[in-house]
Amino acid sequence: MIEQTKDKIAVIGAGIIGLCSALRLQKMGFQVTIFDGNGVSNGASFGNAGHFATEQVFPLADPSLLPKIPRMLIDPLGPICIRPNYILQAIPWFLRFFAAMGPAARVHNTAAITKLNDQSLTQWKLLLKGIDGLNFLTMQGSLLTYEAGSIDNLAADYLMYRAKDVAVDMIDQDQVQTLEPLLSDQILGALYFTDVGHTISPINLSQCIFSAFTEAGGRLVAENIDRITTQFNPIIVESDQQSYTFDKLVICAGAYAKALTAQIGYQVPLEVERGYHLMVPMTQQLNRPVASNDRKFIMTPMQEGLRLAGTVEFGGLVNKADYRRSDMMLTHAKALVPQLASLQLHQLPEQARWMGMRPSLPDSLPIIDFCQKNPNVIFNFGHQHLGLTWAAISAQLITEIIAGKPSTLDLSPYRITRF
Ligand SMILES: Cc1cc2nc3c(=O)[nH]c(=O)nc-3n(C[C@H](O)[C@H](O)[C@H](O)COP(=O)(O)OP(=O)(O)OC[C@H]3O[C@@H](n4cnc5c(N)ncnc54)[C@H](O)[C@@H]3O)c2cc1C
Repeated sequence: MIEQTKDKIAVIGAGIIGLCSALRLQKMGFQVTIFDGNGVSNGASFGNAGHFATEQVFPLADPSLLPKIPRMLIDPLGPICIRPNYILQAIPWFLRFFAAMGPAARVHNTAAITKLNDQSLTQWKLLLKGIDGLNFLTMQGSLLTYEAGSIDNLAADYLMYRAKDVAVDMIDQDQVQTLEPLLSDQILGALYFTDVGHTISPINLSQCIFSAFTEAGGRLVAENIDRITTQFNPIIVESDQQSYTFDKLVICAGAYAKALTAQIGYQVPLEVERGYHLMVPMTQQLNRPVASNDRKFIMTPMQEGLRLAGTVEFGGLVNKADYRRSDMMLTHAKALVPQLASLQLHQLPEQARWMGMRPSLPDSLPIIDFCQKNPNVIFNFGHQHLGLTWAAISAQLITEIIAGKPSTLDLSPYRITRF
C-alpha cells in the first residue's frame, strides 16, 4: 500500500489562535510545526479576561467615542488612551477607524462579527471535547453592570442587544444580588448575558491544547521567524538560527503579523490595542465574569483569584508597559466588591500586573484568508478583543481553506484584500 504523504505546515505563533489552528491541522493528519520564540501563549493569550464574549457583537468603531477623543489624548489613566509618543503613528489607523463608524460599515461589520460569535461556542465545545478539555469552559453567563452614572441607559442598551438577537435579560438590583451576592449595592441593575462562557485559566487552556497537539505528533520550535519567502514552493521560513521549508504556512502572529505580511506585499492596517490586568486574591469568588459599564473593565473569577482586566492603550509594540493602568483597576474593583476594600496595592506581588497586545484592525474584523499570490500561505490574525472567543471557529475556517472544503462561513468580510 502506498502511504499518502501529508503536507508539512508551519504555523507562526503559539498564541491561542496558532494553537487551535495547529491542533486542528495536526489532527487532520498534516505534519505541523509551530514557531514561537516566546513559548506557548506568552503573548495576549496569556492574560486575557477569559471571557467567551459572544455577546459583543458591536464593532469598536462607535461614533459615541468621538467626543471622548480629546480626553484620550491628555489622560494617561483613562479607559482609552494614546501614548503621546505614538499619536502620529496611530493617525492612519484612526482615519480608517473613523471611516468604519459610518452606518453602512457598522451594519456590515456587526453582521460579520455576529457570524463568528454565533459559531464560537459550538466550535469551542467540539475542539475541547476532542481533547478532554471541556472543564476549561464554564457556562454561567456574564453580567454588564450599571451604577448611578449609567443606569438610565440600561433599558436602551437591553433593546440594542435584543435587536441583534443576543440572549440577554435585564435585571434589577435584587436580582444582581441573588446572582452575585459579593457585589456592592452600588450596582443598580445589569444586563445578564445568559449564553456566554468563561474559562478559569486561559494559560492552562492553552497548555491543554498544546499538550494535545504534541501528543498528536505536532512540534514546537522555540524560534522567531524573521524572514519568509513565499514566491515559490516549497515556502522558506527563516529564524536567526536556521532556515526551514514547508508546503504551507499559516501566519498567526497576533500583534506582530503586520511585519510578516509586509514581506509578502500586503500593507495591513494592524494596530496594537494594549490591555492590562491585575490579579487580586479572593476569599470568596464571583460566579461569572462581571463587567462594568461605568468603569469600563471586567472582573473574571479565575483559578488564582479575581482577574481585573481591560483598558485600551494605543502605544505600539515597543513602548514599555504603564502598570498604573493595571493598578487603577483595583480602585474600581473595590467600589464593586466590598470584600476587596482593605486590599492595598503593595500587598500584591509584582507578577499580579500584566500587559498584553490585542491585534486590532480598524473594522474590528480579523483576517482569515489565503494569499492570492500563493494559496499555500494562510492568514489568521487580527482578532482584537475577541481572540479567545474566536480561536476555535477561526481554526475551523482555516482548516476548511487548507482542505479545500466548503466554508462554514462566507469569508468575504475577513479577506486580507479588503484594505
Ligand atoms: C487585557 C486583555 C483582555 C482580553 N480579554 C479577552 C476576553 O475576555 N475574551 C477574548 O475573546 N479575548 C480577549 N482578549 C483578546 C485576546 O487575548 C487576543 O485577541 C488573543 O489572545 C490573540 O491571540 P493571538 O494568538 O492572535 O495572539 P498572541 O496570543 O499575542 O500570540 C501571538 C504569538 O505570536 C508569536 N510571534 C509573533 N511574531 C512571531 C514571529 N515572527 N515568529 C514566531 N512567533 C511569533 C508571539 O510570540 C505570540 O506568542 C483580551 C486581550 C487583553 C490584552
